[in-house]
Amino acid sequence: MTRIYPHIVVAKFGGTSVADFDAMNRSASIVLADKDVRLVVLSASAGVTNILVELAAGLQSRDRLDKIDTLRTIQYNIISRLKQPDAIGQEIDRLLLNISRLAETAEHCATPALSDALVSHGELMSSLLFVEVLRERDVETQWFDARKVIRTTDAFGCAEPQIAETAELAEKQLRPRIEQGLVITQGFIGSDDTGQTTTLGRGGSDYSASLFGEALHAARVDIWTDVAGIYTTDPRIVPQAQRMERVSFSEASEMAAFGAKVLHPATMLPAMRKDIPVFVGSSKQPSAGGTLVCRHAENPPRYRALATRRKQTLLKLHSLHTQPACSFLAETFAVLSRHNTAIDLVTTSENSIALILNSSCATSGEADSLTTSLLTELSSRCRVELETGLDLVTLIGNELTQASGVCKDVFAELEKHHVRMICHGASEHTLCFLLPAETSDSAVKALHRSLFE
Ligand code: ADP
Ligand code: ASP
Ligand code: MG
Repeated sequence: MTRIYPHIVVAKFGGTSVADFDAMNRSASIVLADKDVRLVVLSASAGVTNILVELAAGLQSRDRLDKIDTLRTIQYNIISRLKQPDAIGQEIDRLLLNISRLAETAEHCATPALSDALVSHGELMSSLLFVEVLRERDVETQWFDARKVIRTTDAFGCAEPQIAETAELAEKQLRPRIEQGLVITQGFIGSDDTGQTTTLGRGGSDYSASLFGEALHAARVDIWTDVAGIYTTDPRIVPQAQRMERVSFSEASEMAAFGAKVLHPATMLPAMRKDIPVFVGSSKQPSAGGTLVCRHAENPPRYRALATRRKQTLLKLHSLHTQPACSFLAETFAVLSRHNTAIDLVTTSENSIALILNSSCATSGEADSLTTSLLTELSSRCRVELETGLDLVTLIGNELTQASGVCKDVFAELEKHHVRMICHGASEHTLCFLLPAETSDSAVKALHRSLFE
């Protein structure tokens, strides 16, 4: 009999939660413990996407073979623990062969489209293996290709989802399958309207999970990772960081946008649009609880958390005094807009503008938005200065511009730090400052001690 599930829960498991056979089994137990989980969204096994990104950049034959060997080892460490490894082994071999062909092409002609096609294999492999792990526990599931539903632009490496098309495709292609049983799919990947594979940017599986949740009107999205919730700062930087039981959409969204890696920066957008609570917990310790992100959190504190966004580039533009200050601003932003350059933080003086370029989305390195053509155009209009090796530290909180003493609380702790830029005032929720990368962790530790411990 076909059952209708009005309360669909989407469960996403990150790289460490599907890193090996034991991790996959732990994640499978979490799925089976909650009958409302109807859709499982998986990342590639830990380390796999990094290798695929290297291959996509175009490696020479010897390095390429080494990397593909490492990929094979990761997959076969899982396959060898299965009771019936043959059929799935052949399937994974076929994908490894595809990887090897695409990587060979990349050596001669690396393109963003080829890169996404190649990188998508990590999620394809982990999801196939997870279906097998469940089958050996006598649970029949359906493997589903996320590219049939997640429709995106063709901005390879950092594609934008098309919400209306995705919702329509989910209704047609996915809902009927979910009504038949548990469905396993991939995070991170989608396709454009010509059917080419795209990706949502590094860490994009969280975003996929909330996009699926939105498209299916899910009751909840669960993000299972390697930490038992969202903490007052990255517990890798500050072991004393405390788990937050409940945070609001806007607080979590600011944390993600300003570098808290536990959530992809865009994860909260679909959840906010459809008012879907998001739970974050640890797949290693599911009983340890986690954080619930929902529309409102009671008694929001003045200071909520600290986040670090690494590898920032400071672009300083100085007017040549040939035009009035107001047209210098207008023309500069018109140039940036023509070059599709995402700027989220700005300070200005009469003759200069300082901008932070965020390069945390795409698969390549520092300041990928700073193209040669953009630099050439800017240099023809003003004097350009660039500074790299910087981290953006953000204090996330509530009504930060309404309270007195916020700046004293923060900058008293930063007395010995070389603060390169400060942004405060536009948002009620953030106070950001730019520091040399080598000193940002010590600033976060000092601030955490004084504001949270
Ligand atoms: P996954 O592979 O499951 O997606 P990620 O590595 O992307 O996991 O995200 C989990 C990591 O996010 C944690 O190991 C932690 O170091 C980091 N992190 C950064 N900021 C925070 C925070 N405020 N709370 C919890 N974890 C955080
Ligand atoms: N596998 C992709 C990455 O490593 C997506 C994800 O894990 O969220 O970036
Ligand atoms: Mg992640």
